[in-house]
Amino acid sequence: MSEMINVEEIFASKVFTRATMKERLPKNVYKEVIKVMEQGGELSLAAADVVAKAMKDWAVENGATHYTHWFQPLTGITAEKHDSFVSHPDENGKMIMDFSGKELIKGEPDASSFPSGGLRATFEARGYTAWDITSPAFLKEDATGVILCIPTAFCSYKGEALDKKTPLLRSMEAISEQALRIVRMFGNTEATKVVASVGPEQEYFLVDREKYLQRTDLVFAGRTLFGAPAPKGQELEDHYFGTIRERIGAYMKDLNIELWKLGVTAKTQHNEVAPAQHELAPIYETANIAVDHNQLVMETMKKVAGRHGLTCLLHEKPFAGVNGSGKHNNWSLTTDNGVNLLDPGETPNENIQFLLVLACIIKAVDRHADLLRQSASDVGNDHRLGANEAPPAIISVFLGEQLEDVVKQLVETGEAARCLEGGKLETGVSTLPDFTKDATDRNRTSPFAFTGNKFEFRMVGSADSIASPNTTLNAIVAEAFCEAADVLEKAEDFDLAVHDLIKEYLTKHQRIIFNGDGYSDAWVTEAERRGLPNIKSMIEAVDTLTTEKSVKLFNKFGIFTEAELESREEVLYETYAKTINIEALTMIDMASKQIIPAVIRYTKSLADTVIAVRDAGADASAQADLLKTVSEKLSAMKAALAKLEEVEAKAGAIGNAKEQAFYYKDVVKEAMDELRAPVDEAEMLVDKQVWPVPTYGDLIFEV
Ligand code: ADP
Ligand code: MG
Repeated sequence: MSEMINVEEIFASKVFTRATMKERLPKNVYKEVIKVMEQGGELSLAAADVVAKAMKDWAVENGATHYTHWFQPLTGITAEKHDSFVSHPDENGKMIMDFSGKELIKGEPDASSFPSGGLRATFEARGYTAWDITSPAFLKEDATGVILCIPTAFCSYKGEALDKKTPLLRSMEAISEQALRIVRMFGNTEATKVVASVGPEQEYFLVDREKYLQRTDLVFAGRTLFGAPAPKGQELEDHYFGTIRERIGAYMKDLNIELWKLGVTAKTQHNEVAPAQHELAPIYETANIAVDHNQLVMETMKKVAGRHGLTCLLHEKPFAGVNGSGKHNNWSLTTDNGVNLLDPGETPNENIQFLLVLACIIKAVDRHADLLRQSASDVGNDHRLGANEAPPAIISVFLGEQLEDVVKQLVETGEAARCLEGGKLETGVSTLPDFTKDATDRNRTSPFAFTGNKFEFRMVGSADSIASPNTTLNAIVAEAFCEAADVLEKAEDFDLAVHDLIKEYLTKHQRIIFNGDGYSDAWVTEAERRGLPNIKSMIEAVDTLTTEKSVKLFNKFGIFTEAELESREEVLYETYAKTINIEALTMIDMASKQIIPAVIRYTKSLADTVIAVRDAGADASAQADLLKTVSEKLSAMKAALAKLEEVEAKAGAIGNAKEQAFYYKDVVKEAMDELRAPVDEAEMLVDKQVWPVPTYGDLIFEV
């Protein structure tokens, strides 16, 4: 029997929550903090000192020895530099733990080694971290001890964003301001802001740690670079939602407890499509907190795995031929007086505010499909998008039957007089209840699907930060809201104007709506006919960031300057080149030090067998045939290895980041594929006893 878990007691026990603040701060200071949290502005230094002391006392009572400004540089993961609370001992040699308001609000890590894409030369190394007061501080507990983590944004000396958080926060302000203009026109005078909410569903793989350690590719690249398919894959669909095995269950239980303590609302858990693949989803929350929490989820998944003799793989495609991992980014907009702008209500055709919001989103997604595609790309995701298992690389919007019908009526006649209803679902069993059906079915193949009262952006990669997709979403929709408000605020007849605008937007941008099968080849052709972009890889999407359209958008709302956009481009090209470089070097390493030597040993033992069998007067043709086939694979491997080494060696000389990235994509990756093919074929022929690394079967079926 497992021990009782008291969720209410442990939830957020490591978080400096509002309740904790209320308990520990003088009333006036608490009020000031809440005001800044809710309305923005700056905390006075006097108040910051009081908060810092309370935070430190709370942290120290909970065992903390250090604090850190926790931030999210352009690496896509988090960064922390620990400072202890230790201060100068007094004249009696007694040490008093210290933490000031200044230290809470601002930090200055030596930031020269983070990717900045040219925003900052090494001699201008100053970078500042600034407390994001809207995301609560928390305690991280591990072998280092207990560390007080203060979520921060990270900027250069000149105020340029060096991280993923700053633009996200800027985009949240932009969408709030523009969405407020929309709701005001519909008579909402109470709302003071509109919050972007995000609920990310996180997919992951778990493999046995011992086996993981035997695979250089998993260790260095996070994915297998070689590997023949196991006899069984996911074709029986027996893993999806299947019973959770004991070892995995124990892991999930621990993971939930750790996350709950950190205030992460871990909610759902289940086995995913591929063997060894699982998913966790928290309850949605304010975008920047959701981004922070998703980082904590990924980090905690890895940490807890270690305790169970497991390794958590967050890569988008750890294994060829089986389902990859993504992150469904559920996104919606809610006013602070509780109205979800994406809630259609019972009769969406009569909900004009909803229809305007929907029309604006459709317009935004159509106009900036390229940016949205870019925001969901990372190196690993190139193996998923468009690869017939994940959403295609083409952006389209799924609305479902009910809304599609409403849109159709609006486009055709300018009116939406009727609205399809959900109807009853009859189970045909008298003891089972009949349900009211949703008016909309699901469509798993759509990259951007309306799901009831939110949009689900399904393209995002499992290992990626969700900051960029949400920054982009907020920005493009803010722009559409702004343009709509510019027209409508001036209109003499609001009802007429809004009616015309909805019709105009839907008519102009209906090409982005697609309710069919996104995995089909027919859709690729159809999308091309409609003129929708089909950007096939991460690096082909990079320069969408600095098109005139993009610069105008991000500048207008103060989300990115042109220099900040250029820096992101640079970092993305570099990241791509570096990642493929590591993969290529890892393949070279494995092929030359492990796989080829093992195959050589195997051919030697086959050759010995052939001779011995012949000498004994028996027929050795089967052994000789096998020897011949394996030797051919061996030669192919050797040749492909030499080719990969040759092209890989040339990459370093390419000075331009973009050119180098394309060289890796077009030349190095191809040579990698050429090496993989004969190795995987050989794996199917060679005695398992001599194969030097655990196989796909070992890795994904024996966890
Ligand atoms: P499914 O796999 O069926 O799509 P899950 O329950 O796994 O659904 O995940 C759905 C996610 O969407 C959860 O994180 C949930 O909190 C989130 N979500 C639900 N409603 C909203 C909303 N209005 N805005 C943003 N996210 C939402
Ligand atoms: Mg789910």
